[in-house]
Amino acid sequence: MSHAVDPNTLHTDTYVVAAGRPTRSPGASVNPAVELTSTYSADGPVNYARVGNPTWNAFEEALGGLEGGSALVHASGMGAISAALSLAEAHATIVAPDQTYNGTGDLLSAYQAGGGTVARRHASDTAGLLVAVDALGPGDLLWLESPTNPLMDVVDLPAVLARSSERGVTSVVDNTLATPLLCRPLQLGADVVVHSVTKYLSGHSDVVLGASVVADTERGRALGERLRRHRTLHGAIAGPMEVFLALRGLRTLSVRFERACANAAVLAARLEAHPAVARVRYPGSGAMMAIDVAGPPDDPEPAEQVCAATRLWLHSTSLGGVESQIERRRRHPSEPDTVPHSLLRLSVGIEHVEDLWADLDLALRVGTGAVQP
Ligand SMILES: *Cc1c(COP(=O)(O)O)cnc(C)c1O
Repeated sequence: MSHAVDPNTLHTDTYVVAAGRPTRSPGASVNPAVELTSTYSADGPVNYARVGNPTWNAFEEALGGLEGGSALVHASGMGAISAALSLAEAHATIVAPDQTYNGTGDLLSAYQAGGGTVARRHASDTAGLLVAVDALGPGDLLWLESPTNPLMDVVDLPAVLARSSERGVTSVVDNTLATPLLCRPLQLGADVVVHSVTKYLSGHSDVVLGASVVADTERGRALGERLRRHRTLHGAIAGPMEVFLALRGLRTLSVRFERACANAAVLAARLEAHPAVARVRYPGSGAMMAIDVAGPPDDPEPAEQVCAATRLWLHSTSLGGVESQIERRRRHPSEPDTVPHSLLRLSVGIEHVEDLWADLDLALRVGTGAVQP
């Protein structure tokens, strides 16, 4: 790979375009090859493809630079999260916000069932999180996610990560929703960042992929070795084609995210004034928000009708693609009851904002019975 591409001197917009390309030489490919091989000729740096693959290296170099550390690609976001949760010892304590991605929540419940302790604090209860972090020791873990999904509560990452790094507590941040364009947790003192690459980083809803990133410090490298070992031995490794697609998607991350965030800001302001919306949960940046549809919070029906009435917004789970998506989260049995039945999560895409607004406005009025379909 080329080492002329420095994330510290280039603007991020440029870095995502230039990073992870093969070394320049006359006639060489400008993109990494999709290396479809299970094994390699003996005596090279890697002998078997469960351990490493050159297509992974290109993506890992690009994402590592973007987060300011060293990255590993995993088979899925959950693959990366499983590896990161393995950093907690079996009967230790994990401190986490009261809401986490529901897959992470299920793993935390399993950890608890296996004899570990999970201490949950409200995401915005900074004082409570600091007290919980102070009680942690070696073998314990701090797990953070901000904004939380789907209630969009914000954790004071600078304050909480400053405390955990001061106390030497191992910390992990799921940075999927914010992306490294809005937040770089390693710079705030986090030990590990995890991503569902499925979302914004790849950006086109066509791959399932994950990543973990550790700081380029002695402590970070030691944690990185444990994550790498987990990936190799548990075997949740990425297919080279998926990784190629993710790097292709990463090239446009900056422009996609800029447009999606601008659209989200416009929509959030208009939704605040919409008669069919009781509450807008928008953290003030990013391209994700949630709305509580007017009516009883425990009535799923109007929200379901809104989803059914959209024509442009995709009624589907997941987020972070170029296309706008809408979903009632309590459809998922593992979603906690702190999430109202009337809540819709919106992942704002890169379409023209007026088309998005026209479709959503009409669907909200049709769904809540204000106008006939
Ligand atoms: C989707 C998601 C995950 C899980 O990632 P997969 O790629 O689906 O395994 C984890 N965390 C967050 C915040 C997510 O949105």
